[in-house]
Amino acid sequence: MHYIFIGNGIISLSTAFRLLENLSSSSKITIIGAKERVGSATLAAAAMLNSFCEVDEDTFSNKYNKLRFEMSIKATDLWPAFIKKYSQLKDIQKTKHPNPILDGGLGTYLINNTSADSYDDENYNLIIKALKKYDQPYQPVEPQDIPGYYPNQKDRTNHAIFIRNEGWINPNSTINSLEQYLGNDGRVDFVNENVKFLNQRNNKLDHLTLVSGKKISGDKFLLASGSNVTDLLRDSKIDITIPRIFYGVGVSVLISNPKEYLSNCIRTPNRGLACGIYASPFMSRDSTNKVVAGATNLISPRPIFKPRIVEVQSLLENVKNQINLKMYNSELEKINIGWRPTSADTYPLIGPTSVEGLYIASGTKRDGFHQAPLLSKILSSMLSGEKVDKKYKWFHPERNHIRTLTREQAIKKSVKHLMSASYQHGFSPGLYTTENKLRNKYKDDLEKLHDDVGAINWGIPTDMLEMYRYNQIKY
Ligand SMILES: Cc1cc2nc3c(=O)[nH]c(=O)nc-3n(C[C@H](O)[C@H](O)[C@H](O)COP(=O)(O)OP(=O)(O)OC[C@H]3O[C@@H](n4cnc5c(N)ncnc54)[C@H](O)[C@@H]3O)c2cc1C
Repeated sequence: MHYIFIGNGIISLSTAFRLLENLSSSSKITIIGAKERVGSATLAAAAMLNSFCEVDEDTFSNKYNKLRFEMSIKATDLWPAFIKKYSQLKDIQKTKHPNPILDGGLGTYLINNTSADSYDDENYNLIIKALKKYDQPYQPVEPQDIPGYYPNQKDRTNHAIFIRNEGWINPNSTINSLEQYLGNDGRVDFVNENVKFLNQRNNKLDHLTLVSGKKISGDKFLLASGSNVTDLLRDSKIDITIPRIFYGVGVSVLISNPKEYLSNCIRTPNRGLACGIYASPFMSRDSTNKVVAGATNLISPRPIFKPRIVEVQSLLENVKNQINLKMYNSELEKINIGWRPTSADTYPLIGPTSVEGLYIASGTKRDGFHQAPLLSKILSSMLSGEKVDKKYKWFHPERNHIRTLTREQAIKKSVKHLMSASYQHGFSPGLYTTENKLRNKYKDDLEKLHDDVGAINWGIPTDMLEMYRYNQIKY
């Protein structure tokens, strides 16, 4: 059996890693993708390995979100063995860091500051509730005792907790180690070039055409090229309909010499339209003191290659003011821009398609890195024709859009997110009436958008408001 993987991000590499576990000696895996990895979501990630810090009002509100949360918890459990195997253990001893995770660590400080609005408080309290429900270790901490935390006085937090089992890891190290592991296996080869077209013959995926014009045939193909999955299928005229995958453009920054040593990840809860503010130690074997901070979020129908000034400016301001004021004269080592693969209904796409031989893995949005040890298991089982929990079929690629919110719920939620986003970007009403006017304005606008789209008994996902507004989603 010849497996061809299109894409060289965390989803593709981790699935190849899993598939090798039971691959016959006569089978092989070819991983295709240019080494530059333009727009790689994986390399722009912090990468936080969070389940509980991501909890919000929707986490337990329907069966799809509950499944996603369950998957996230399972992924957390799988990470230690995953690292141990792909890093071939001996590497762990080489790392200078005392943490049990190679080039990463465990333990996250969650802060509840007043830099945005009360949506933060809601999520902070829901996170604590979930930690209690799942009997997860956490403890309140004095904010001034958090290593590396020295915010602007106006942005300081009065509450913080330390969550022991939420971690982070250097995505570059992970990708390098996985590539090394796979490269050492004679059954795996890499093609340092992108795919231009997928070539379908009758109802079967027959071969691929690379940018150079070279053709590659195989038996089973995994399309894991991140955000451009829809574009690639459309350009190739592949005869299937999936929820469109958008480019969830995210900017993060690598800061060197942060002045104070950050021992752990420090982050806020999720905020309106984004994931809040975080700063994680950026660990590597040769690294001096560095921090990766993020992140912005802009859903786009097309790739955006360069970060916009507003994104970098607000990110740096927020990190300096909300995490450590002394970073004002740290060095900006790198600006990352990556595309979170974000589906039109915001749920992942995993599994086989009606085109024989074609499997899709995308739409992981903002937790695909963390979920990789589990998603890779599910995908390798699917590719091998083994049984998987039938719940995972809810996320099959050719589904109708998953719609979980009523119109009223969606509008209420989106107003909350838009207000939070306004506060994140400096909205300061002065008068209660001004705030109320803005809230009503958002509500009226959302009612109109739902009318225009014909969303009478369903609600538009908050992430997708602009994509519906500009007719980027067929409904
Ligand atoms: C700023 C930011 C912060 C994030 N933070 C976190 C976090 O803290 N924790 C977390 O779990 N997740 C995080 N995420 C989300 C996470 O990064 C993604 O869910 C995950 O990395 C998606 O992996 P992927 O392999 O599907 O996509 P990608 O990493 O984008 O990989 C796709 C690969 O396919 C290649 N490719 C594209 N086109 C072709 C082609 N035509 N032929 C061949 N190859 C092609 C690309 O170059 C790329 O290398 C973050 C994302 C961003 C952008």
